[in-house]
Amino acid sequence: MTNKTGKVYLIGAGPGDPGLLTIKAKECIEAADVVVYDYLAAPFLLNYARKDAQIIYVGKKGGDHTLTQDKINQLLVDKAKEGFDVARLKGGDPFVFGRGGEEAQMLLSQGVSYEVVPGVTSAISAPAYAGIPVTHRDHTSFVSFITGHEDPTKKDSSMQWDIFAKSDATLVFLMGVKNLANITKNLMENGKAKDTPVALVRWGTTAKQQTVTGTLETIVDEVNKAGLKSPAIIVIGHVVSLREELAWFDNRPLFGKRIVITRARAQASNLVSALSKLGAQCIEIPTIEIAPPQDIEPLKRTIENIKNYDWLVFTSVNGVKFFFDTLYDMGKDVRVLGHLQFACIGPVTKERLRDHGIVSDILPETYRAESVVDAFSGVDIKNKNVLLPRAKMARTILPEELTRMGARVDEVTAYETRINEDGKQELISLLEDRQIDAVTFTSSSTVSNFMSLLESCDSRKLLSDVLIASIGPVTSDTAVSLGIKPDIEAVDYTIPGLVDVLLKHYSSTN
Ligand code: SAH
Repeated sequence: MTNKTGKVYLIGAGPGDPGLLTIKAKECIEAADVVVYDYLAAPFLLNYARKDAQIIYVGKKGGDHTLTQDKINQLLVDKAKEGFDVARLKGGDPFVFGRGGEEAQMLLSQGVSYEVVPGVTSAISAPAYAGIPVTHRDHTSFVSFITGHEDPTKKDSSMQWDIFAKSDATLVFLMGVKNLANITKNLMENGKAKDTPVALVRWGTTAKQQTVTGTLETIVDEVNKAGLKSPAIIVIGHVVSLREELAWFDNRPLFGKRIVITRARAQASNLVSALSKLGAQCIEIPTIEIAPPQDIEPLKRTIENIKNYDWLVFTSVNGVKFFFDTLYDMGKDVRVLGHLQFACIGPVTKERLRDHGIVSDILPETYRAESVVDAFSGVDIKNKNVLLPRAKMARTILPEELTRMGARVDEVTAYETRINEDGKQELISLLEDRQIDAVTFTSSSTVSNFMSLLESCDSRKLLSDVLIASIGPVTSDTAVSLGIKPDIEAVDYTIPGLVDVLLKHYSSTN
């Protein structure tokens, strides 16, 4: 504990798209001792927080106030007075209907210093992601941001409906979904043309974005039909008609597709980012956890005796990672590997090896062990000592084939994969609610673990209208043996290959 008073940063966290966080906001989150966030601030932001930071959720989803505004204020003051720097994250911009002004006044009155980090407000960005510019020289020269939250029965309303109705301003209402009928009624009663275009954009800038359009007269029906709920931005004005021409975000090929990623979390990011860029909503349910072997001694002993080997063959990025982690933990470095020749399966494994300063001598074309055998056929490995650091219980074809070619092969367990059951309940309820469009399998163990998560359910029924995508024939075989037949299979047995086949599938069915 220090005797300095901390500072409070009132930070705009943007509307949801991780890329719309400002650099300054990210730096403040990274530096904070305490991070206070609410319902509209996307949870991924917490990944930027320090591991030892206190993370406090203060809720505030219409009605469900986890902490009242007074208590939130008190919390900010208390934490700062305890000497902590506090990142107070707010959806969008803190000073646009974010009560940031009130929080700043309160901090001031308590002698706590603060800074404001503006954010990208949903008022502009949600329309922008729906292809609606809030101003456009051919349509309107000004824009109003209006609270849609005001109680319509309030006597001395500050809402100047006559002025809103007469102007050609784009009207942007926040917090207005529940009041939509009143808003449209008031505008029409005050003379605004019934055919004025209106759009509602829910969860703007995220993969869940949903847009409903209509006119002042029809929008209430359209919104009811679509079942659209809060949080959404309401945009009223002629600029809405530009959406037809300018829509871009929801035109992407995988937009709206909810795709389950079953890989281990540490390895999922390239698949998640490729699919997200195409518009998909990725749901990460890692079915695998990758960990060092329970007994690390055999690997250590092997490394101790590495001078006895001629070849080192890596079949996965995990093999590389855990082999080198152990090597470094033992106080050694790559110089002890100088006499070896190397083979890597797949370009990514090769890159990871390259990160350690070593260029692979052999790079089999595909990810399958069988093609390593092909690649070795041009090399004389007769009587050579080959070491294979790999997963516990890896497939046997590779050591068998190399042995047949005359090599002396030692396998050593460099890591273990275990089933990860953390996402089981989430997975089952998403499947039961028909909230999943596709499931991706990137290895045999993702399939078998996934199926064990569904052990207690009727998996055939749960998966009946879910697209099953497999990375290649080996994975597909495992799937078939467990009773699910993949609908599509990558031609290239790689992550980009898997993305490609999903893209092809959805481009041809949309
Ligand atoms: N300070 C925030 C607004 C907070 S008020 C900002 O600048 O964006 C809360 C309202 O913001 C919600 O009721 C909804 O109208 C709007 N909102 C926030 N995030 C949104 C999003 N991603 N998509 C659509 N509307 C959003």
